Amino acid sequence: MKLNTNAKSLLKVQAHLVAECFNKLFIGGQFVDPIDGEKLPTYYPATGELLHELPRGKANDVEAAIAAADLVWAEGTWAGMTAAERGKIVAKMAQGIEDNIDMLAEIEAADVGKPFRQAAMTLGGAAAEGKYWCSLGAALDAEQDMPVNSGGGEGGVPPEEWDVVYRRDPIGVIGLISAWNYPMNIAFRKVAPALVAGNCAILKPSEIAGLSCMFIAKLAQDAGIPAGVFSVVTGDRDAGAALAAAPSVSMISFTGSSLTGSKIMNACAPKLSQVALELGGKSALVVFDDTDLDHAVETAMKGFLTNGGQICTAHTRLVVQDGLETPLLDKLKEELEKLPFCSDPITEKDRGDRAWEDGMTDVVQPVVCESQHQKILGFLDEAKAVGVEVVTGGGVPDVEAVGNSGGYFIQPTVLTNVARDSDVWQKEVFGPVLSVRSFSTEQEAVQEANSTAFGLASTVMSADPAKAMRVANRIRAGAVYATSTGEGILAEHPAVSRGGFGCSGVGRELGIGGLHEYTELKSVNYTGFSLADAKKQNTG
Ligand code: NAD
Repeated sequence: MKLNTNAKSLLKVQAHLVAECFNKLFIGGQFVDPIDGEKLPTYYPATGELLHELPRGKANDVEAAIAAADLVWAEGTWAGMTAAERGKIVAKMAQGIEDNIDMLAEIEAADVGKPFRQAAMTLGGAAAEGKYWCSLGAALDAEQDMPVNSGGGEGGVPPEEWDVVYRRDPIGVIGLISAWNYPMNIAFRKVAPALVAGNCAILKPSEIAGLSCMFIAKLAQDAGIPAGVFSVVTGDRDAGAALAAAPSVSMISFTGSSLTGSKIMNACAPKLSQVALELGGKSALVVFDDTDLDHAVETAMKGFLTNGGQICTAHTRLVVQDGLETPLLDKLKEELEKLPFCSDPITEKDRGDRAWEDGMTDVVQPVVCESQHQKILGFLDEAKAVGVEVVTGGGVPDVEAVGNSGGYFIQPTVLTNVARDSDVWQKEVFGPVLSVRSFSTEQEAVQEANSTAFGLASTVMSADPAKAMRVANRIRAGAVYATSTGEGILAEHPAVSRGGFGCSGVGRELGIGGLHEYTELKSVNYTGFSLADAKKQNTG
């Protein structure tokens, strides 16, 4: 039976993709073909149909982008501007995202398979966050030549005859390598602070779903970013590896899997260049038995189903107190089995009953690609083979339930009788799969939450604020939510720094600390004359 009914919506997106920026690399301020002329296919996850063929940049294209960046970095003009001046230019790019949300959301719906409305919402977030980075330019300028103050401690004050100040310099030519699950958000969260801080940057988006990121090249050109300061090279892991290993690339900012993060760290080790790594997670939702049942169910659903479970902070481990386990699982199963599948994410906005704005997860999207689909099914097969119990889901839905054939759909799945050392407890599945374990004491709750090598995000739910605080303070994760309602889980704010403990990452994103990641701190010590003297006589 052939049920692929999306030809029209796909054609609409393909009409956007004829633009130059979706078909060329952007190097040295020009749109160019890849040197070897190769292409990479990308597919619509809801049907498996070919969506687009993008240019496959390789090591030789990466080298060309680095050469262009090296040249402009050596000139020093971009780095020599104030951060506020650079911020004004980059703000035009953020505005460009906002002005094109509908088109970009259709592209992300087709590329990632996420429902249009969710794509539009997160793209709005990318634009707003971009403007925040630009506004922080003035804050960075205000930090230049900041007198070194005592940080406390005995003898912590520099000698009086020293006029010693701190400066924050850009790092140099840096590589930005991004993942596919929130393509524009992840990429622009790197591009904007990297450029505002004064670096030259080369973006290598994900080959799985990175089409919206290619539009950043057009935004840079339209905004007047000087040639060579910013390039976009699409390609697969070989292009990423070439960027990471290049001698003159002084930093890699990476978002992706922990395995790739470790390879990148390895590639950067011989040259001792900087890394900022935002990696995978296996976040826990700890629910005490005093939690309201409806809130717990809603939070669990949102935690593991948002973006089809393909979010680094997805709460894919449910740690529930004994007394609440049965009612919570019963209700969860009932609600999950009512959820419709999203057969055409591109036109999802035409449905009238969406509750996404209220924070509800009310539709099941496909996962991003065939290899990811197979990987998730492999996890499920292995789990069943070792005696894990399937509460609901556990495989591929019927074609009739989805309304399409050929798509990469997985049923929302809840697993119990999960051993602590099993793969579905320890590894990132990156799909709509929730593993459940129970606890009786507060101490056990903490131990369960901290029982993986990851530490990205976690939530503790309780009606008792003191208990929630005690547990939150002992959870080892870069972001913890303590809540009686579940409100705000997975939410981010540009001013709140985040990052990973353990295998979830190195460094922090967002907030002024996130901008500092793209700078080097240096001290300048004036003796014999003061900085004020130097500034007074400065005519250069
Ligand atoms: P991935 O690691 O497979 O790929 C990410 C990027 O790295 C892609 O652009 C890819 O081409 C490139 N790459 C692959 N091998 C490389 C190599 N050897 N050298 C250099 N570059 C290489 O990850 P993915 O599947 O695209 O994304 C999903 C992963 O990203 C999940 O683990 C998820 O948790 C993580 N993620 C983390 C965050 C966060 O903020 N912590 C956010 C989103 C996604």
